[in-house]
Amino acid sequence: ACAATALLPVVGGDTRVPLVDGRSVPYANLDYAASAPALESVAARVVEVLPLYASVHRGAGYLSQVSTALYEASRATVARFVGARPDDVAVVTRNTTDALNLLAGCVPDGGRVLVLDVEHHANLLPWVRSVRGSGRTATILPSAPTVAETLTALRTELARQPYALVTLTGASNVTGEALPIASVVALAQEAGARVAVDGAQLLPHRAFSLAASGVDYVAFSGHKTYAPFGAGALVGRRDWLDAGTPYLAGGGAVRDVRTDRTLWQPAPARHEGGSPNVLGAVALAEACDALAELPAGALDEHERALRERLVDGLAAIPGARVLRLWSDSADPVGVVAFTLGDHDSGLVAAYLSAEHGIGVRDGRFCAHPLLARVGVTGGAIRASVGVGTTTETVDRLLAGLRAYVGEGPAASYEVVDGCWTV
Ligand code: PMP
Repeated sequence: ACAATALLPVVGGDTRVPLVDGRSVPYANLDYAASAPALESVAARVVEVLPLYASVHRGAGYLSQVSTALYEASRATVARFVGARPDDVAVVTRNTTDALNLLAGCVPDGGRVLVLDVEHHANLLPWVRSVRGSGRTATILPSAPTVAETLTALRTELARQPYALVTLTGASNVTGEALPIASVVALAQEAGARVAVDGAQLLPHRAFSLAASGVDYVAFSGHKTYAPFGAGALVGRRDWLDAGTPYLAGGGAVRDVRTDRTLWQPAPARHEGGSPNVLGAVALAEACDALAELPAGALDEHERALRERLVDGLAAIPGARVLRLWSDSADPVGVVAFTLGDHDSGLVAAYLSAEHGIGVRDGRFCAHPLLARVGVTGGAIRASVGVGTTTETVDRLLAGLRAYVGEGPAASYEVVDGCWTV
């Protein structure tokens, strides 16, 4: 019953979209894992702050001072949201991809990185891309069929050779599952390695604390956390970030420049060269505050109810298979990927949009090795929920899928490159 209404109001919650037959219906947004709609409170804050636009950190004018204060206060809010320790640094980035690439460049030279093969490409490619001359290398460990066996494989690999960092997803963008972070932290600490968490799918769904978990770094994206596009964060231990090569060389990242040498700022300024995204940071902070202010457990309860309804409903649809990484994983977030017999995932997704006004994602979700691991060669369909989702939205998807397998798509339109045209 808790999911019958939205948990928080989002912008565009009543947007109507055209169907192939000319009617329009309210958009059923089941694609929160790709990009979540902004909260109404976030949109209001953006409108409030927009007139205060002025240069940050460098201007002497009053509005520059206000902008600088807003930007730095946003940084503090983001750090608080992820339970940062007093000496942690919060770098404002463009998104999770940006944050993890930044961190990859800060792993000390010679440091080895351990990552599983079930990660989003954003938490895979920055580590495997060789950094010329640094001597950093990554090991991609195959995931096992159970959490227990995967943890054993991690323990064995950590004992085999020294690692600087273990990096893992806080929640898979395909299955919503995760390894228990506490167990991974314990294994890594025992082996003297640090831990980074790709929080892109975790932080919009669950409370998280660096200090409480012992995780060293966390990265996440504003556009998945109910803020607009363009701002994310990397938060964590200061020493690597202070010593790492500046991520964006330019104004603001330096203390003093002569033509024959450059003195860089410590983090976070060191990695934030160029004019910062004040509005993005303010919006992100507002979203963080809104999530943090929800009563304890409310978000989990809302999404768990929706996820269960979706998974139970899919179980009754002929041919539907919900993708799972581990048979013993606990409490996935509200992200559900599935296949529908031999049906082409792109056609199913296009049909859901054209005939039902439902937005899902299809394909391989920027996690090609993961899809291979769960035995999907083509693609799958992903439905993901969030604070604005209601049970009615989930029911519309289930009805749409039933219609698809029962009757097939109407022939009044053509699907070209995954888009429908009349
Ligand atoms: N990690 C995970 C788990 C994700 O789901 C995503 C986005 N799909 C990313 C990283 C990358 O996020 P962004 O595109 O905002 O950089």
